[in-house]
Amino acid sequence: MVTNRDILQYPNEILTTAITDNVNIPLDESDKKICLDIYKYLKVAKNPKLSRMMNISSNAVGLAANQIGKKKRIFGTNFDGKIFIMVNPKIIEHSKKKTLTENGEGCLSVNFGNLNVNVPRYKNITIGSYIYDIDTNDCTYMEMKLSNLNSTIFQQELDHLNGKLIID
Ligand SMILES: [Zn+2]
Repeated sequence: MVTNRDILQYPNEILTTAITDNVNIPLDESDKKICLDIYKYLKVAKNPKLSRMMNISSNAVGLAANQIGKKKRIFGTNFDGKIFIMVNPKIIEHSKKKTLTENGEGCLSVNFGNLNVNVPRYKNITIGSYIYDIDTNDCTYMEMKLSNLNSTIFQQELDHLNGKLIID
């Protein structure tokens, strides 16, 4: 089980190095394990009591593979309570308009999430990604439109895979 102890902190080099290669589809067993680890972390994060007990940040809505030391283009997000595990995610289209998150963005890898930073993000994006299904183990390509907070979450996680942090 991945806990806060496993989350790398700035300025760890793995966090600041872009991951260039896409993950092979279908996923191999070790990539599936990464997906599952991220899923479990974000799932426990939804439960304040359980997350405290298990040393998981209860406000976590995103976790990228390189934050737990895995150099793979995989991350997990929590969009309005629903967890998505994304493999080889990309932005297909974005609005000109940018937005800031109220009270700024935190990141588990920057001061353990205790620093909030204002980062301009595209307000609306269309993304394409393979989505890993925890129940069936399948990975299916999907496109979806995201706006506001969900758009911001996606962009922070995508930045992680590109070696970029909220303080850059
Ligand atoms: Zn982050």
